[in-house]
Amino acid sequence: MSVAAILSAAQAIGGGVPAHLSFRDLRKIYADGVAALDGVSANVGKGEFCVVLGPSGSGKSTLLRVVNGLTDLTSGTMTLSDTALSPKTLRGIRRRVAMVHQQFNLVERASVASNVLAGAVAEVPSWRALLGWYPDHLRDRACEVIARVGLDEIHLPRRAAALSGGQQQRVGIARALLLRPEVILADEPVASLDPAISREVLGLLREAAREQGATVLCSLHQTDLAREFADRIIGMRKGRVVFDGAPHLFDAAAEGRLYEGLTAPVGQSAYQEKAYA
Ligand code: ADP
Repeated sequence: MSVAAILSAAQAIGGGVPAHLSFRDLRKIYADGVAALDGVSANVGKGEFCVVLGPSGSGKSTLLRVVNGLTDLTSGTMTLSDTALSPKTLRGIRRRVAMVHQQFNLVERASVASNVLAGAVAEVPSWRALLGWYPDHLRDRACEVIARVGLDEIHLPRRAAALSGGQQQRVGIARALLLRPEVILADEPVASLDPAISREVLGLLREAAREQGATVLCSLHQTDLAREFADRIIGMRKGRVVFDGAPHLFDAAAEGRLYEGLTAPVGQSAYQEKAYA
């Protein structure tokens, strides 16, 4: 067996799905000594909707941020398909990885159309973007993704600030979809939304990603939403992976290990209500 074959076999995840994102022994020690990632290893399969679940401070956000280079790693290795992710390769992968943010990160005074087109930052020089000079194919694509997230033409010229929270996150998702990324990183995308809107937005993100074969790494702290939407759950606690598997395997005992001794997470189950009362 060749070295490449051994490597790819090692990277295959349960059920034989090839790994799309692969993490090996990731460590991130912040300057104040906090180990936000303390030896994280996991593989995420192509097209999976993978929820990173855990209490506040468990390292979810740091994990997502190291993937797109917003935070540097202290040690460890990451690969996207066969590309090693590092500061050197960051430029090359920028258009392959998009992000959806907790607070939407829209320019509130700018129009919905401008906010969505801002997702082309990896393809359009910033001076052209500043002047609003986007090529026709991107304008067409912006209309396509805006429709895909359930907004319509009347929303295009509206200022982002005039939209509801749920609509603003739809714009955030449209912006992420614009360049058809291979990977979407969603950092607590529904933390600012009420439960009914959260379900709509997560459903939309999952379906839209699935349609274009994108892999999603989505951090959440609500166990009920993780169970409902995830193809796979990676449970983190204090910078370590304490659960990695299909949602039906995330039982009361696994949930207890994730949250033991901590305050109850939002979206707690009956088990948690008892355990954390
Ligand atoms: P989560 O997303 O699960 O809430 P984070 O990744 O934001 O967790 O944080 C993990 C740990 O790292 C926490 O203890 C947090 O206080 C710490 N941390 C996060 N960002 C920084 C930073 N920029 N500097 C120092 N410590 C940080």
